[in-house]
Amino acid sequence: MLASWFHLRDRCPRCKLHLHREEGDYFLGAYTVMLLAMETMFALGFLIVLLVTWPNPPWAAIQWGGAVVLLIGVLVSYPFAKTLWLAIDLMFRPVARQELGWDDQNAGKDDEVRRQ
Ligand SMILES: [Zn+2]
Repeated sequence: MLASWFHLRDRCPRCKLHLHREEGDYFLGAYTVMLLAMETMFALGFLIVLLVTWPNPPWAAIQWGGAVVLLIGVLVSYPFAKTLWLAIDLMFRPVARQELGWDDQNAGKDDEVRRQ
């Protein structure tokens, strides 16, 4: 489903589902999934470091190390946030037949056209 690490294909290569579905701001949901995952990861890491190093936590290392870990976490989990949001959306809004484009002879060709 991924055209590259940061881009989804227009359609699923197997079932031809339009992966961006119909809304322009569709991936605000992916942003929310990413935000929740990164906030949770940071909070757990912060708690573990505090518990291990108490009573002298390395505040500067927590601040800068936390920023680096969050940046790496965002880059690594970016495609998973998009596909996880798509899965959540599909649970609540099942696929309509017209989204699959099985009747459209051009379905699946839009990725090729965009690269030219
Ligand atoms: Zn599919």
